[in-house]
Amino acid sequence: MSSQPISYDYIVVGAGSAGCVLANRLTEDPSVRVLLLEAGGKDSNPWIHVPIGYIKTMAMPGLNWLFDTEPDPYTYNRPIPIPRGRVLGGSSSINGMLYVRGNALDYDGWAQFGNRGWSYDDVLGYFKKSENRETDLSEYRGSGGPLNVADMRESHELLDAVIETADGLGYPRNPDYNGASQDGFGYFQVTQKDGRRNSAAVAYLNPARNRPNLHVETNAHTKRIVFDGKRAVGVVYDKGGAEYEARAGREVVLSAGAVQSPQILELSGVGRPDVLQQHGIAVHHDLPGVGENEQDHYVARLVARINRPITLNEQTRGFSMVGEVLKYAFGRRGILTYTAGIVYGFVRSRPEVASPDLQFHVAHASFKDPKKRILDHEPGITIGPCQLRPESRGTIHIKSADPFAAPAIRPNFLSAEMDRATLAAGMRIGRKLISAAPLSHYVDAETLPGPDCATDDEIIDFARQTGATLYHPVGTCKMGSDPMAVVCDQLKVHGLEGLRVVDASIMPTLVSGNTNAPTIMIAEKAADMMKAEQR
Ligand SMILES: Cc1cc2nc3c(=O)[nH]c(=O)nc-3n(C[C@H](O)[C@H](O)[C@H](O)COP(=O)(O)OP(=O)(O)OC[C@H]3O[C@@H](n4cnc5c(N)ncnc54)[C@H](O)[C@@H]3O)c2cc1C
Repeated sequence: MSSQPISYDYIVVGAGSAGCVLANRLTEDPSVRVLLLEAGGKDSNPWIHVPIGYIKTMAMPGLNWLFDTEPDPYTYNRPIPIPRGRVLGGSSSINGMLYVRGNALDYDGWAQFGNRGWSYDDVLGYFKKSENRETDLSEYRGSGGPLNVADMRESHELLDAVIETADGLGYPRNPDYNGASQDGFGYFQVTQKDGRRNSAAVAYLNPARNRPNLHVETNAHTKRIVFDGKRAVGVVYDKGGAEYEARAGREVVLSAGAVQSPQILELSGVGRPDVLQQHGIAVHHDLPGVGENEQDHYVARLVARINRPITLNEQTRGFSMVGEVLKYAFGRRGILTYTAGIVYGFVRSRPEVASPDLQFHVAHASFKDPKKRILDHEPGITIGPCQLRPESRGTIHIKSADPFAAPAIRPNFLSAEMDRATLAAGMRIGRKLISAAPLSHYVDAETLPGPDCATDDEIIDFARQTGATLYHPVGTCKMGSDPMAVVCDQLKVHGLEGLRVVDASIMPTLVSGNTNAPTIMIAEKAADMMKAEQR
């Protein structure tokens, strides 16, 4: 162990979406000293900041933990990539930048489980506080907050046709899916500013970096929490092969994300006794919910060949690309500002459901090899539905006592009948879209899954063989008061003192949408709760 432990008020582990918010908000009070520990490095790679660089950073070892799932029979034992940001900004530095809050009923559901202060009315103020919505302000939207929420800078005739077709099929154009109603189709809102990524590091951490009461340590991998009895008093971390200890007078906060917050708890002897003992870790605190309750969005993709060369498949090649680079360099416009999905759809698979249970991500591009992100040679469109509130539950547990070893991620995608039925319904809605005008005028043929895939069983089989995560693991340190809950509604770890978890892992159920904005909201609220306790 190198040197004497340095003491802070708070130690925040992980400088991702949540950790950056906490670092900023907690150090607004100059008397509060915060140490922010991040296993990854600085966010200086230019691909982070140019939106289309997303396609590259998804698979870049230096910026990404590049986890894979364990073999799982429901998805034919395929290792499914689970990218996670390993850099300042965490996953917000490599994500698709889509700004989505989910549905008001998600949060009302959290409150109904007994989590006081988490209904939509309670959390709306934190969504508004966090954002600077550039346009279309309403009672639901905020301005002046750190996180810039812009409209997509480019539209496209094929995507306009998707929206018009959806409207004709009864899925209305929605002026703001983060406002009064979520249902319908339109262009995504994005966490970008002036055509550049607005990660949590850019939005929250950079403005606070010069505060003398904030110490940010990069390439600092937290190995375990230090306890004094049942109280967390610090952490041990590795930097450059040397071991250091830092002390927290008030609290240790885990913000290492849904994959690694449970890992750090287990490495520290907090979790399911059988899991800990299997790896020779002494049980410090029996907490059976750690690493359980994992939930994630699973997408299957419908691809159609387009009958004219207007898609990204062609625009990203040769001279077209040179033109696009110049367009971006001189005006921050063009295809380099595009993100993962460009048009969204929030749809109810059945009239009985109280809110949309399907989300579509649509892009005027298609991949020959989705894993390697190699685009098709012929023009294409991809329509990806996912079941928004999956009933499949998975786990994330350590595979070894080695803090540098990847944990075992077992999402059990498609293990629940409801998830399979809803996904099949989504694929059928995708087919309706490509078959109806005006979109049908552009479509040559469905190439994936293709016309031979007709029955629900065949569609599900295709989904099992080819589906992927939408990168939204949550729930592994769930908030609640039942025996499987890890944190209470103040996000304090049950049965321990001086220890909170603040990140996507605390969501008791997955929200009906992408998870960055909700995670930032969670951290805004947590910072307020922590400040209130200081007072
Ligand atoms: C490829 C991809 C695309 C996505 N697209 C979208 C999107 O378009 N819209 C959306 O809303 N959401 C999207 N998401 C999801 C969203 O970004 C995440 O839900 C959110 O960023 C999670 O925030 P977090 O704070 O929980 O974890 P993270 O942001 O992942 O932060 C965890 C941090 O902890 C660090 N860490 C981990 N272990 C340790 C350790 N032992 N010691 C020190 N540091 C450690 C990590 O390096 C990381 O920086 C995407 C995610 C990915 C990966």
